[in-house]
Amino acid sequence: MNTSIIAVGTELLFGQTVNTNAAYLSENLNHLGFNVMYHFVVGDNDGRLEHTLKRALTDTDLVIVTGGLGPTQDDMTKETVARVMDAPLYLNEECLAEVKRYFSIRNREMAPNNVQQAYIPENAVIFRNEAGTAPAFAVNKGDKWVICYPGPPRELKWIFEDSGKDFLRKFKEKQIYYRVIRTIGIGESDLETLLMPLIDNQTDPTIATYAKEGECTIRVASQRDTMEEAQAAVENMISRMNNLIGSYIYSYDDEELKSVVVHKLQRQGLTISSAESCTGGAFAASITDVPGASKVLSRGYITYDEEAKISMLGVDPTVIDQYTVVSSEVAIEMAKGARLEAGSDIAVSITGYAGPEADEGREAGNAYIGYAYDDTVGAVELFTKRNDRAWNRNYFRLMMLKVVN
Ligand code: ATP
Ligand code: MG
Repeated sequence: MNTSIIAVGTELLFGQTVNTNAAYLSENLNHLGFNVMYHFVVGDNDGRLEHTLKRALTDTDLVIVTGGLGPTQDDMTKETVARVMDAPLYLNEECLAEVKRYFSIRNREMAPNNVQQAYIPENAVIFRNEAGTAPAFAVNKGDKWVICYPGPPRELKWIFEDSGKDFLRKFKEKQIYYRVIRTIGIGESDLETLLMPLIDNQTDPTIATYAKEGECTIRVASQRDTMEEAQAAVENMISRMNNLIGSYIYSYDDEELKSVVVHKLQRQGLTISSAESCTGGAFAASITDVPGASKVLSRGYITYDEEAKISMLGVDPTVIDQYTVVSSEVAIEMAKGARLEAGSDIAVSITGYAGPEADEGREAGNAYIGYAYDDTVGAVELFTKRNDRAWNRNYFRLMMLKVVN
């Protein structure tokens, strides 16, 4: 079904608010198999909204509007939609009760203008909103549909998850199943080359790769008559992909690398410590992002200068002199030292040049990750060939997670 999205709000045109609602809706609509053709942004202006709405309804069959549903003067979405769709507003008693309830359970006085929130276009399908006071609704004129959501992103998401998605599924004759696979350690073009035998001439399932800050994500989707067929097609494709790129895959369910790592350590009952130089603690911070990290993370050392590596981790100064501080030998010493000091099962370390400039004649993006686990120690060399400090540091962090994984 051809779809457009209209975001209403003068603040969006001023650039004060980023139009995240359109991105959120587009992503979800795409996943549901809708063909999003246009994004419009229009200010809080009745005439221009009407004009945009009519245009969107001419070019597409489904129009999703966000914003301007509130009770204040500048919120006019409902009036405009009601007029364009020939569905006059009426006071919906159930909605009114909901709005009153919203205020009473929060012990707040309901301002009189909130009664506005309960006015809904005739014959509209209403979506409840427990995250706010303005209900969302869908209204049709013949085959053309308009769905209105409140502007606050939190409310939009709440309603969309609660009932919006299910409502949209009814429009689809075909069922969609998809999975998102995450990979690390390989660039997007290399990934596509490896997957070429599967991507070539492939219409269903579709395979879409996209790269994001050092990681690559692959979406495998199938549209079939039944959910079972779609699911089987996707699973079959994923097992074929596994043969080609299995070693780069760390999640089959769109899980972030940091949580994959924490959950794995949790399952195996292992603790970890870290010794970081150029990442400045970013690895340890990633681990602590994940709920339950306290069961696995013992300590994180930030040993930025040589003295810290020597005094906090017991790195042998002669090793630094012999191999330089950015070397696999020092990375291993750091990991061994961290493991010993922290008494953890595993330790991981990093020493490197984040850039942007070359340092002591060594190129930015060169780093060594060390690891120590029981009697096993080792190091991995990284070489990004990039002068971008932020990119390098993020990549180093991800690669530390990969090494642990
Ligand atoms: P309210 O009942 O809060 O008035 P509303 O439906 O009238 O809701 P708006 O007044 O348009 O919504 O916007 C409310 C908040 O949501 C504002 O802070 C606005 O910046 C934010 N917002 C609105 N539209 C978008 C959008 N497209 N993307 C991201 N944020 C948005
Ligand atoms: Mg408003």
